[in-house]
Amino acid sequence: MRRHWPLIFLLTIANLTAYALAESTHDDGSVPLIDVRTVYQSTMVDQVAFLAEQGEVLSVDEVQSLIRRNPAVLKRPETSVLVNGINSGAIWLVANVLNPTDDTILRRVSVRTGWLEKVDFFFITEDRQTQHFIGGDRVPLDERSLAKRIPSADYPFPSGETLLLLRIETADPMVVPLYFSSIADSHSRELSETALYSFVYGVMFALAAYNLMLFAGLRQRRYLFYSLYTGSFVATTASYNGIGMALLWPEAVGWQQWAPPLLMLCFASSGLAFATNFLNTQRHRPWLHRIIQTIGVAYFALLVACFALDEQGLALRLAFLVVPLFSVLMLYMGVSSWVSGNKSARYFMLGTLASAAGASTTALTVIGMIPYTQLGYYAVDIGMVVDAILLMLALADLARKNEEARIAAEQKAQTDLLTGLNNRRGFLPVAESLWSLVTRKNRNICVAMIDIDHFKDINDQYGHAVGDRMLKIIADELDKSRRLGDLLARWGGEEFTLLLPETDEAEALKVAERFRQNIEQLVVNDRGRAIRCTISIGVASRHSEDVTLDQAITRADEELYQAKLQGRNRVSAGRTSDEPESLRANRQQ
Ligand code: GH3
Ligand code: MG
Ligand code: MG
Repeated sequence: MRRHWPLIFLLTIANLTAYALAESTHDDGSVPLIDVRTVYQSTMVDQVAFLAEQGEVLSVDEVQSLIRRNPAVLKRPETSVLVNGINSGAIWLVANVLNPTDDTILRRVSVRTGWLEKVDFFFITEDRQTQHFIGGDRVPLDERSLAKRIPSADYPFPSGETLLLLRIETADPMVVPLYFSSIADSHSRELSETALYSFVYGVMFALAAYNLMLFAGLRQRRYLFYSLYTGSFVATTASYNGIGMALLWPEAVGWQQWAPPLLMLCFASSGLAFATNFLNTQRHRPWLHRIIQTIGVAYFALLVACFALDEQGLALRLAFLVVPLFSVLMLYMGVSSWVSGNKSARYFMLGTLASAAGASTTALTVIGMIPYTQLGYYAVDIGMVVDAILLMLALADLARKNEEARIAAEQKAQTDLLTGLNNRRGFLPVAESLWSLVTRKNRNICVAMIDIDHFKDINDQYGHAVGDRMLKIIADELDKSRRLGDLLARWGGEEFTLLLPETDEAEALKVAERFRQNIEQLVVNDRGRAIRCTISIGVASRHSEDVTLDQAITRADEELYQAKLQGRNRVSAGRTSDEPESLRANRQQ
């Protein structure tokens, strides 16, 4: 379950405020009069009176005689939307509609809440003829008086007075935004609703599909959870706003009653799965992970029990109870993850805030605390879109960080920690490809092995730490002496290797000699003591075509050994080939 079950959240607020609102209604005692010509741009339930059924189902006649006997049974809602909580029992709306003209005037009466189960519209003219229309999601679409997703009735009001009676019954939250308008106004309202839902659902579907593809490609479950989360948001809202029934399951009234709590569970659990996966709750807060799992399983079990006992109202109450609980948990998860250094959690939190702000705005609109506007009513959907986009950013942020960490780890594995030079792992792949490139073009290339002379003595004399410092300084010096394009690496211990592409033996000898001299002249000051050291270098050049880098390195090692034998602090060179020993001896002289 997820903080982003915002509508449910708002309805919970609505539920809680229902009793307070019920108290705040005032009695009038008379049936209110509406002029049929009045143009109501928004909801107008405050223009009618209402009466709550006390358990027993009342008939039209019974309601009329009840009002006649005791007009005080009628209450007047003070807000433009009547809110009466979950499973509140049926209510009746009552008004007299006056048509002072001689013509008939056609009007549409609708209650723009998609989840109301049964709405009966009664129109009683002065000659006591009663017209009856029905709507609500307990009635299959083609059996409703108007095959619309929200309960509506069109009635041509004749000259004179018509008594309008509406009976609304639902186990769902009783939220009654009553509209009384011309057909044209109703159409334009429907059009803007369609535009808004197309936008919201379009964004959600696109994100769900995109993340499903990401999951298929990357096999990371957080993309699947995100996809399920946005997808089930659409399914959940479509189940309670009536779009699902209007478009997908026009006959399935049984499913329609259970779809909201069931889809709510899908939505909430995929949201939770996403959040715990994204914030890695199992690792960082195993106890929280267990609590969430337990609540999830318990909720599912209770829902199944409700279904078995046919307790739809209870299932809804349960859902409404669990949602705010999870909202708090989610917020806590986001904040604590952010505080403990997870930067991606800030998008998560902003998303939470967006959907919470949207939900609160809609809640305040629905309970009449802020003036009713379309934008206010649909703020919850807009908040959810913002949330989904921010979560997408959070995912992208996490993917970027993971990629950066992967590259950093790779680089770290190829770099020698002490000197910052390439290590063998970093050196060999680059050297191999350079070597084969040069070989293919039959160009010159040399490799040199460099070893610090008597380095053990430096360690022994000045200590290992000074030895480390020396190594670093010598590595820096070698790096500075290297030509651009030559590849230097720490081969291990106090040994370095240098690859010189496009370089013949004579040039390589010059470079090596420069290296040797630079190090010879290097004086390192350690607490007043001047430390010097020298290096020996073995150089090998590629001679015949089939010489490998490996062979050249072995050859350079042999030359290095020669340099050591000959007294150190010198450069020795040889060709990596089968040239006669005598020839090489001549060359070395
Ligand atoms: P030679 O002239 O024959 O090369 O003598 P050497 O003492 O330099 O050679 P030897 O192979 O006997 O010793 C190498 C020394 O380098 C021993 C080892 O402790 C030291 N050494 C290797 N790696 C490090 C390092 O990372 N830090 C320090 N401080 N010493 C190192
Ligand atoms: Mg050495
Ligand atoms: Mg050595």
